[in-house]
Amino acid sequence: MTAIVARPRENRRSEIRVTLESIHQQLQPLAAAIDYHIPSLPELFSMIIVMEQGATPEQIKHMIERVESFGLKAHPITGTERTVIAAIGEKRTEMKEALASGPGVESVMPILAPYKVASREVKKDSTQIRALNLKVGAGSIGIMAGPCSVESKEQILACAHAVKAAGATSLRGGAYKPRTSPYAFQGMKEEGLKLLALAREQTGLAIVTEIMSTEEVPLVASYADVLQIGARNMQNYRLLEAVGKANKPVLLKRGPSATMEEFLLAAEYILNEGNPNVMLCERGIRTFEAHTRFTLPLASVPYLHHKTHLPVVVDPSHGTGHTYLVPDMAVASIAAGADGLILEVHPDPERALSDGYQSLNFKQFDETMSRCRTVATALGKTL
Ligand code: PEP
Ligand code: MN
Repeated sequence: MTAIVARPRENRRSEIRVTLESIHQQLQPLAAAIDYHIPSLPELFSMIIVMEQGATPEQIKHMIERVESFGLKAHPITGTERTVIAAIGEKRTEMKEALASGPGVESVMPILAPYKVASREVKKDSTQIRALNLKVGAGSIGIMAGPCSVESKEQILACAHAVKAAGATSLRGGAYKPRTSPYAFQGMKEEGLKLLALAREQTGLAIVTEIMSTEEVPLVASYADVLQIGARNMQNYRLLEAVGKANKPVLLKRGPSATMEEFLLAAEYILNEGNPNVMLCERGIRTFEAHTRFTLPLASVPYLHHKTHLPVVVDPSHGTGHTYLVPDMAVASIAAGADGLILEVHPDPERALSDGYQSLNFKQFDETMSRCRTVATALGKTL
């Protein structure tokens, strides 16, 4: 807290306000219990301006300018039926009425969720995210498959061709690896990125790869089609802001001890920088259980669909940590409504340099894909 308050720079204002609002909210019941009145905070202005059906592009542009003239950030969101503009910043009394009387405006409503742009309140229809042939969300299930780490040219090319033949539309593979031990294989770095690009050239698969630090964003974004933020970095806010400024979709993995609200607020950091293409990935959390590497809570999928319009991907590989559990949990994820899967696949899992114990071989991946497709078809989705 002290650290945040000690440097109240302009661009940190909304972050500080969200924190204060949440502390304020938590204190209310405690204060009520001892009959103590906490004076209200100056409110954060977070409203949606719902444009009329058939509002013209000029009217929308005009309202964006009006929002910005109040010193608020405007996030236009185009739905199938109408456009809404999320307006976020510091509240002044005259704003709501002034905006409500704008041309083409149907109504102005508060956004109640602490995450604003990510909220289903702001956008009713589900978001679909695309990168080359990868389509995730709104009825399309996207499969990202490949090794935990890029290890060699032969390994990544063999993986790319095998996962493509089985129906994946995206190749995963870490070039920068977040390893628990500093002595473990740290990834092939830029060499790995070049091999991923070669695999894309040969197969057309979209490349998903992890970015571990802010400095790596320009380099990784120049090779990747989707930027992966690993579980360990879910709350690395400067990194989230940096990928929010990059012009590539982001796969945001849930931190192993993050609540759903923290997860959605992490996504909000990326959206708030103007990058609307965020996929949320449930990859399992830390619990007392030791029979699996992490505990994979599949209720996150319908829960997130209820709260946000962003697509939800599941990672049954890290979520279970055991190859024999991965196929069933992949099928279960699709049944729970997942918009995508990220799966570790290796030509020879026994010899993998990382996460071999949870990787599928090509045959196992192919069988998993057929089972997932059966469920997807039954649900009226494309895979
Ligand atoms: C990975 O995808 O290989 C990985 C490191 O995942 P996570 O960040 O979920 O642990
Ligand atoms: Mn891994």
